[in-house]
Amino acid sequence: MSAVDTHLVGVFEDVVRRNPGEREFHQAVREVLESLAPVVEKHPEYTEASIIERMCEPERQIIFRVPWVDDEGNVRVNRGFRVEFNSALGPYKGGLRFHPSVYLGIVKFLGFEQIFKNSLTGLPIGGGKGGSDFDPQGRSDGEIMRFCQSFMAELHRHIGEYTDVPAGDIGVGLREVGFLFGQYKRLTNKYESGVLTGKGLNWGGSLVRTEATGYGTVFFAAEMLKAKGDDFEGKRVVVSGSGNVATYAAEKVHQLGGTVIACSDSAGYIVDEKGIDVDEVKDIKEVRRGRIKEYLEKHPHASYVAGGSIWDVSCDIALPCATQNEIEEDHAIHLVKNGCVLVAEGANMPCTPEAIHVVQDAGILYAPGKAANAGGVATSALEMQQNASRDSWSFEYTEDRLQQIVRDIHKRCVTTADQYGRPGNYVVGANISGFTRVAEAMLAFGVI
Ligand code: NDP
Repeated sequence: MSAVDTHLVGVFEDVVRRNPGEREFHQAVREVLESLAPVVEKHPEYTEASIIERMCEPERQIIFRVPWVDDEGNVRVNRGFRVEFNSALGPYKGGLRFHPSVYLGIVKFLGFEQIFKNSLTGLPIGGGKGGSDFDPQGRSDGEIMRFCQSFMAELHRHIGEYTDVPAGDIGVGLREVGFLFGQYKRLTNKYESGVLTGKGLNWGGSLVRTEATGYGTVFFAAEMLKAKGDDFEGKRVVVSGSGNVATYAAEKVHQLGGTVIACSDSAGYIVDEKGIDVDEVKDIKEVRRGRIKEYLEKHPHASYVAGGSIWDVSCDIALPCATQNEIEEDHAIHLVKNGCVLVAEGANMPCTPEAIHVVQDAGILYAPGKAANAGGVATSALEMQQNASRDSWSFEYTEDRLQQIVRDIHKRCVTTADQYGRPGNYVVGANISGFTRVAEAMLAFGVI
């Protein structure tokens, strides 16, 4: 083992020791550190200034009580988190996740990923993430509102246009951002549009932000295919999830000539060989807030599998857009065996390390989430630009900007992977490229 490798192993062991029990955070750190040896070799100044050690330690972590009253008058208590990980490139930027699985380790993994993703966009945004173990499923609008208001009653002290700009993630969409923004405005007596992104169109939101993560993931996959002289035309695509990212990924796949044959929620998956009716999925999920199995009511020819894994369905292209670690080794083996040519992560860290190895060893095109789904946060930064200039851009113009940003991210990944002798390796390209921009800024600032 080289001295650099030994050093990186030591940093990782330290992270595990200092952050016990935070499995997902360890996994995210390991995945990045495993790529960094060549760049650390080339830049001893990063080691001398302990840049990596500092990057692995959040600048600030806020954990708070979120009490609220349910519809029956019971007082409930949840836990809120905001991890302000790294502000070398700009204000902390990253979503809020409301899901019962949320704990500090999940928020830190997401915040850590966000540093490199945001750097890759080339835009002036640092990395952060937050959320709560609150479960929005089955809650009334009134309960959601009271929870969001209580959450913001604490969070508002820590955020701001120039400090920390949250957005949505799992369980946090337009409705929740509305309640959060309303409470921020009330508490601060300021109409500070730039404090949150993912806002509604008539109160400071940007066109394309809703679609951006899903569209961006498909744009990225299309760039990967293009580099191989291929495209989406005629491809069978499986998209996991049926939330914000999945729905708009499916919509863009259809626009580019592919067919999405399956999508899912946490209870099961549907298969529709004729192609998923995306408008129906939107109606079920966005309007009725229902379950994906309701798809069969209007499409009886489709099938529904309760439980199980959507990754048992064979496809040419896999777009995991639901949650972390949803594609395990066995699923990856199945995908490879059945001729899958590309895996692009719309979700954050949806493939386990074992699954990634299977996919990469088989020579399948593989895009990590921090590159493939960066279009979402990039469009949040475009929303911030529009807020700062009191402007609003057209759908076409904003989508063009998104597509150009995604092309640039793709180019950065490819060029960096080539430069470090790992052509075609999007993991190495994304990690080194994202890392370098942050490292250079941190060096410039001295020891802070
Ligand atoms: P949504 O809440 O809109 O949708 C999440 C979807 O994934 C739902 O269909 C949900 O099913 C399913 N899901 C969630 N948890 C699980 C689980 N444990 N097992 C199986 N299915 C699950 O979230 P988003 O679409 O916004 O986010 C999806 C992924 O994309 C996340 O990894 C997120 O971090 C990532 N992402 C999101 C961005 C954004 O802009 N929104 C930006 C970049 C990344 P159910 O309804 O049954 O829970």
